Amino acid sequence: MPPTPASAAAAETNIQVVLRCRPINDKEATERAHAVLAFKGIRGRELAVRAAIPSDRSLTKTFTFDRVYAPEASQELVFRDVVYPIVEEVVSGYNCTIFAYGQTGTGKTHTMQGDLALSPGGQLSPHAGMIPRALYALFEIVNFDAGDATVKVSCIELYNEELRDLLAVTDDDSAKLKLYEENKVVHLQGAQERFVKSPVEVIQLLNQATEKRQVAATKMNEKSSRSHCVFMVTVMIKESTPDGLEVMKVGKLNLVDLAGSENIGRSGAENRQAREAGAINQSLLTLGRVINALVEKQGHVPYRESKLTRLLKDSLGGHTKTCIIATVSPARSNLEETLSTLDYAHRAKNIRNKPKVNEHRSKRAIISEYEREIDQLRADLQA
Ligand code: ADP
Ligand code: MG
Repeated sequence: MPPTPASAAAAETNIQVVLRCRPINDKEATERAHAVLAFKGIRGRELAVRAAIPSDRSLTKTFTFDRVYAPEASQELVFRDVVYPIVEEVVSGYNCTIFAYGQTGTGKTHTMQGDLALSPGGQLSPHAGMIPRALYALFEIVNFDAGDATVKVSCIELYNEELRDLLAVTDDDSAKLKLYEENKVVHLQGAQERFVKSPVEVIQLLNQATEKRQVAATKMNEKSSRSHCVFMVTVMIKESTPDGLEVMKVGKLNLVDLAGSENIGRSGAENRQAREAGAINQSLLTLGRVINALVEKQGHVPYRESKLTRLLKDSLGGHTKTCIIATVSPARSNLEETLSTLDYAHRAKNIRNKPKVNEHRSKRAIISEYEREIDQLRADLQA
């Protein structure tokens, strides 16, 4: 008998949307009147976009987000503000998803992964991104020593509607990856799940996954800008309630580094030329359509039209707490793509989800789990 989820009251909340602007790079610094974005402080809520004629204030457009980070904002600041509270939600048994969305070269990978190098003492780099920081925080928040908590991670890549397991030992293992639906919930079958006992082990796995992603990227030009990378963390915590019931809390965190947003047309509409050039990114295109359908409250939401939206269905209009980190360049030469990202992110603010806790309150389920564990221990002893 499957454990029954507790009927936690699910209140609607909007998807959280934050904007991060990277610093101007050397190439852009040589442009005349290079910066077109103006910020109110390192961390504010508003962003002004100066249009073509800087002296004409009427051409300035202002966007408001849950947070807006200026180029000087550190990884630590973005993490403390945006991701740490999400890690706490995961520990409480929520499913949470963080998407990095933006044009190639604007800092999606920097934000999600960043520098993975560790100091000799095992400390994270100041440039470490959200994934390593989230795992370090997780191991700080949860007491794993008592043996009542476990963490497992998976990492997959989605390119050209094909799933690939970045933690798989052999390439054949990726062939086993499959999405299937059961009781309206989409599951990923066949992915390597690694149990980790320390954040350092996670860093090793991340390095392994990055290497795997890069090898393929150099073989196939532009692949890295067209592939999506999803890092999945599951935390299981056993707790006892004051009334003596055993509670199994399961929290999940998806950290998604999306393909470059330039891979869909400016309007998000299907572009025949792009399709002919094989440049249409079905998953990114469908993600935009799903967002539109949810915002416009259309009856039909086209989740099924791409693997990305199937895999992350619950993150959009479902029971997951979702955050989008939209990344942009401050440079005039990227203005058109920046405006496109700002429009997209702004629209996504209107999506409403109903997050709920995954709490399995069933003595029987827990006991049978213990029994299995005991059987396993007995078998190990006899071996
Ligand atoms: P994307 O993944 O969106 O294509 P990257 O994360 O690879 O972009 O970033 C492109 C370059 O800009 C990298 O060299 C990265 O280190 C740098 N960069 C991006 N964001 C920042 C930032 N906030 N601070 C400093 N450097 C950044
Ligand atoms: Mg990248």
